[in-house]
Amino acid sequence: MKIKQTGRIGQAMLVFLCFLVWASQTDLCASNDIETPEHHFGFKPGSDRMLFDYEDLIAYLQKLDASSSRVKLADIGKSPMGKRLYIAFISSGENIQNLDTLRAINRRLALEPDIPESEKESLLNEGKVFFLATLSMHADEVGPAQSAPLIAYDLATTTDPQKKEWLDNVVYMMVPSHNPDGMDMVVNHYNKYKGTKYEGSSMPGVYHKYIGHDNNRDFLTLSQEDTKAIARIYSRDWFPQVMVEKHQMGSRSMRYFVPPVHDPIAENIDAGLWNWTGIIGSNMMTDMTKQGLAGVAHHYLFDDYAPLYTTICMWKNVISFLTEAASAKDATPIYIEENELGAYGKGLSEYKKSINMPLPWPGGWWKLSDIIAYEITSTLSIIKTASLHRRDILIFRNELCRKEVRKGKTSPPYYYILPLQQHDASELANLVNLLKEHGTAVYRLSQNRSLEGRAFNKGDIVIPLAQPFRAFIKEVMEVQKYPIRHYTPGGEIIKPYDVTSWSLPLHRGVKAVEIANARSEEFESAFEEITDVFALRKDVSDKFWAAVFTARNNESFRAAFLCQKLGMKVDRLQKAAKFDSGEAPGGSFVVRNDPEHGEKMEQVLKEMKVSPLIVNEPVEFDGTPLRIPRIALVETYFHDADAGWTRFLFDTFNLPYRVVHPGDFEKTDLAKDFDVVIFPDAEKSILMKGKEKVRGEEQYVISSYPPEFTRGIEKKGMERLMTFLNKGGLIISWGQSTALFMDSLEIKGDKDGKEEFQLPVRDISQRLRNSGLYCPGSLFQLKLKTDHPLTLGMPGEVGVLFEGRPVFATSIPDFDMDRRVIGKFPESNGLLSGYCEKEDLLANRASLVWLKKGNGQLVLFGFNPIFRASSQSSYRLLFNAILLPQIAAED
Ligand SMILES: [Zn+2]
Repeated sequence: MKIKQTGRIGQAMLVFLCFLVWASQTDLCASNDIETPEHHFGFKPGSDRMLFDYEDLIAYLQKLDASSSRVKLADIGKSPMGKRLYIAFISSGENIQNLDTLRAINRRLALEPDIPESEKESLLNEGKVFFLATLSMHADEVGPAQSAPLIAYDLATTTDPQKKEWLDNVVYMMVPSHNPDGMDMVVNHYNKYKGTKYEGSSMPGVYHKYIGHDNNRDFLTLSQEDTKAIARIYSRDWFPQVMVEKHQMGSRSMRYFVPPVHDPIAENIDAGLWNWTGIIGSNMMTDMTKQGLAGVAHHYLFDDYAPLYTTICMWKNVISFLTEAASAKDATPIYIEENELGAYGKGLSEYKKSINMPLPWPGGWWKLSDIIAYEITSTLSIIKTASLHRRDILIFRNELCRKEVRKGKTSPPYYYILPLQQHDASELANLVNLLKEHGTAVYRLSQNRSLEGRAFNKGDIVIPLAQPFRAFIKEVMEVQKYPIRHYTPGGEIIKPYDVTSWSLPLHRGVKAVEIANARSEEFESAFEEITDVFALRKDVSDKFWAAVFTARNNESFRAAFLCQKLGMKVDRLQKAAKFDSGEAPGGSFVVRNDPEHGEKMEQVLKEMKVSPLIVNEPVEFDGTPLRIPRIALVETYFHDADAGWTRFLFDTFNLPYRVVHPGDFEKTDLAKDFDVVIFPDAEKSILMKGKEKVRGEEQYVISSYPPEFTRGIEKKGMERLMTFLNKGGLIISWGQSTALFMDSLEIKGDKDGKEEFQLPVRDISQRLRNSGLYCPGSLFQLKLKTDHPLTLGMPGEVGVLFEGRPVFATSIPDFDMDRRVIGKFPESNGLLSGYCEKEDLLANRASLVWLKKGNGQLVLFGFNPIFRASSQSSYRLLFNAILLPQIAAED
């Protein structure tokens, strides 16, 4: 706030100055009446300790849009918190005038495999390279967004013939901030602490409505509004040929990362795409080094294996990559001693001159202005390369489209078929809609057909592989098999940067059939493209007695929670029940169609992708009224993305909750305010002490957060939590936070003094890791105990996203405790998709445990039941946990 006022006063001064200067014909106010960034912001972007916010950035670009024929700003959607998102198109005035025509050329080159030669020639002559850059999606990586006005101004006003030639050949599509909500949060935080000893400290919480840094793990799932808007640019709207996502990394290694990346690389991506990233990266390194920018490195740390990032467009034939600049402390300069520089991660083993970093940076001051200098040079270099190779890049794009379509016709798999009959039909519907959102053509069979000796029914879904985005379809529909590569023959295996499983059917519990033998014209004659939003709704008359939402569908939980929210009465079936129109399993939700509900039932049915069971005549059934418990969701201030994903999921499913921070425990009467306390995946030391722990070591690391955000649960808060449990509370925990419950625990009794106890469970994952277990995040089969309220509506086996820890072992309980293993890994072949070393160590191990202490219950998950909103097959385990009936008081 403070800085903004200074900015305005500064601006007023500058307007006056500018007038004087303009009058004397100098160029502070720029040529062609185009305002300079310095004039607009009141300081030169990149100045020490100065940041502008999102609104000011857009205000400047709007001025460029109004004053320059080379700049056009377009609204592309909204952020999760409702800010408008924009692209600035920057190119020659003529190209900006012709954007629609040029877009049509892009589309044809990207999607038409058989353009007649005569027409193709004119498309190649007229077409331009569209180069998309998304800046600062990770909002505390401030440099790229802060460089945006300088780059835009330079290109809008340049008279340099070379740059003008680039702009004739290239349309630069700049998303000036991929994450406007986060940008304002980070700038506000920086300004709040500027001038204090916490200047440049980490911003507490996530710099996004929900998912913070994980916003770059959402590009397959497309769960967030901003992700959807960005993905639409390359999947369905503009079809750029080149794309970069601009990031920053830590401060203690190289200064700038350019492509190509390191292994592993995705098997499904065409070799030509890697070659192009190499050409663009080498040119960047050459141009940056020529400008004296040291410390540029490639083929290091980052890989192109997981299709989760913005660079998922590589699977859609876009030459795409990321860059990473070393960070300062936001806008505050830092000084780095030479001995503080090091090499971290694969590809560079020492911080020394090497082929991956031919000119090391020697240390010294590192400032926002340095980052911006690297950003400007790297961006102009990409534009230059795109211009030099304009025609080749356009040819490459169309050739790739031809090649992928041909591959889909001549090599397996040929189709993925999703039968209409599924355990969870709502996830089938979601999967179809997601594939369509990704720019994939999806069909349904208009008649029964058979293929490879299997019968398929009218209505079954078919995704043919003969499509321009074949690589994408194959990647996300198949089972992941990790491409094992070693650094040296027989040496260490090259490990992945992220998780190794994402197969959409498996993660969603949707059955898919891969057709590997042949294409069939007869089969395709029954194809009918799905053009609208896909739903499995039946027409329902208004006069019926009740709707039964089956516990088999994720969506039924959303429907039940929505009904509850709208004030409708919902009952939950205790056991399976037969109705006149069909059977519903135990755990299903019955909502009476009472006249007093008015339009509400209609509203609910309209929102759902799958129709419930409609019951016309009143019947008796064994049900209990649904009661949504009062939920405390524990979120630390340490950029707790998993808690953010949980909030997102609960909001999406209409489940009310209140966020509680670890420091609140000491003063909260948990039993008075809550029925359930939920701990998403968070490190125990952060939860308890507000400090991170060095992995595998005992010592704590003091965080870079201001101290008011680093309060932990501490001993007293933990005692309160255990009292809450003992008196009948429910605790749900997954991932690392389960470590909270493995030590000896304490309850302060009202009159009996304190009680010490240890729950009949422990985490044995460290022992398994010592024996060689390595699991970077893969999909495992879990065998479920089916006669338990936690598994209502679940199949007997389910795929869960497991990251190698924790693994539980239970023991025979003492006193007022009990335990049940609800889910365990199978004896063999537990790995469904992804990578794991020594998976046999997991045979028969427990991964989902129910525990009882006093009148309370705990549910501990060894896997993440909602992993990044992309493990739909296990969502219902969490919902069932939340809805666990209370234990009747014993005395
Ligand atoms: Zn980043």
